Amino acid sequence: MGPDPRPQPRVTTLAAAADDFGHLVHQTPNAVLLPASAHDVAAAVRRAAGQGRRFAAQGRRHSVFGRAQARDGVVADMGRLRTLHAVQRDRVVVDAGATWREVVAATLPHGRTPPVLTDYLDLSVGGTLAVGGVGSATSRLGVMSDHVLELEVVTGQGEQVICSPDRHPNLFDAVRAGLGQVGVITRATLPLVPAPRLVRRFLLFYPDLATMLGDQRLLVHEPRFEGVQGAVLATPTGGWTFRLDLTTPFTGDPPDDPALLAGLSDDRPKAQPSMLPYLDHLNRFTVLERFLRSNGQWWFPHPWLTTFVGDASVESVVDSELADLPPADLGPLGQVVLSPVLRESVRSPLLRLPPDPVCYTFNLFRLPATDEAGEARRLVMANRAVYERVRDVAGTLYPVSAFPMSRDDWRRHFGAAFDRLSEAKHDHDPGHVLTPGYELF
Ligand SMILES: Cc1cc2nc3c(=O)[nH]c(=O)nc-3n(C[C@H](O)[C@H](O)[C@H](O)COP(=O)(O)OP(=O)(O)OC[C@H]3O[C@@H](n4cnc5c(N)ncnc54)[C@H](O)[C@@H]3O)c2cc1C
Repeated sequence: MGPDPRPQPRVTTLAAAADDFGHLVHQTPNAVLLPASAHDVAAAVRRAAGQGRRFAAQGRRHSVFGRAQARDGVVADMGRLRTLHAVQRDRVVVDAGATWREVVAATLPHGRTPPVLTDYLDLSVGGTLAVGGVGSATSRLGVMSDHVLELEVVTGQGEQVICSPDRHPNLFDAVRAGLGQVGVITRATLPLVPAPRLVRRFLLFYPDLATMLGDQRLLVHEPRFEGVQGAVLATPTGGWTFRLDLTTPFTGDPPDDPALLAGLSDDRPKAQPSMLPYLDHLNRFTVLERFLRSNGQWWFPHPWLTTFVGDASVESVVDSELADLPPADLGPLGQVVLSPVLRESVRSPLLRLPPDPVCYTFNLFRLPATDEAGEARRLVMANRAVYERVRDVAGTLYPVSAFPMSRDDWRRHFGAAFDRLSEAKHDHDPGHVLTPGYELF
């Protein structure tokens, strides 16, 4: 069982709206609204624009660097906009404030599921589609914003517009992974696929990075595992160990284990196979969440860094970053996430990836054992330095990261796609009302 999926009454204070999961940036808004409809959102955007204020939608406030905040502006807590509309065989229509937990609670009884889900289900649909959405199936199936049929959005001019690949495609492409710069998502139509009953899972261990990367390169090109996720973990003796978490969902006969593992170079005696219900697989973050809540670390600062590195440089970059990374900077429960992504599977134009056909998430999932503010600031600056080294080898940012970015940084980040975003901003949010937290325009 994960957290209670039933809608909870919501009260958002100015102080809560000036905080997020990172607990690193605090911008107090002038007002917090609880819109109950897209119409309310549209009216609120128009009112904010008329008052010369900025406007930010807040989903579950799991941003880590104030990206959902608006100093002196208007913040909309999207939590009341969480209706799950009709579940059909191939699609579901959901209001953007719903969480993925609520989405799967509605679709699984129909034997259906979204094809890609984040590793953590308590994120809002709108907040996730605004950044992309990376999950265990991303390696071969892309990000969650690639799996959207239609969006209802409110633009920075307070207009309600339906967009899709066929209707207002430029707006559709600027909203998906567009960091909330041109529209607030109020409703999404998401594709559904048959939900598996069970998941076969293997944790495989590797003595070194090169061997793990070799298996990732092999697996990302083959359909044997849907989920291919790598992690680098600190060992008690001060070194690093390398782990692949491989998952294959199924419904009828279990898959053939020897065929799944054929040709892999892991330390086989250490392999940990398991079989789990699909929902338990989706809930895999819950154990860590419970622990972090129970010892208070959930409320500590979270200076996370999330990037993508291309195949050509991944080994040298990760090797040298690990050489300089004190395990204490990750925290005892932290880890480096290193998972392959087939570039061609990602179709959201604003999700920036390195040019290599295979890329890797390279994330410092820091869970510091202290809430000391100076230490958090030091790690934010360390993030910036790592990002610059990643960028020097054509790596890119997954913008769920804790460190400041200047307008020039963002321009460089979006590269050839910046003009497209800029044009969409000009067309749909010319007054620069929406989502100031990225400091992008
Ligand atoms: C514990 C934890 C686990 C996570 N796991 C994953 C993971 O597995 N994969 C992954 O990709 N990410 C993951 N993340 C990061 C997460 O996807 C992003 O932080 C996401 O933006 C958070 O969603 P949210 O609903 O909390 O959004 P918020 O933090 O509320 O908002 C995020 C951004 O989106 C904007 N926004 C919010 N709602 C809307 C809307 N309706 N329309 C337009 N813009 C909107 C906000 O203004 C803000 O800029 C995780 C974060 C945490 C804290």
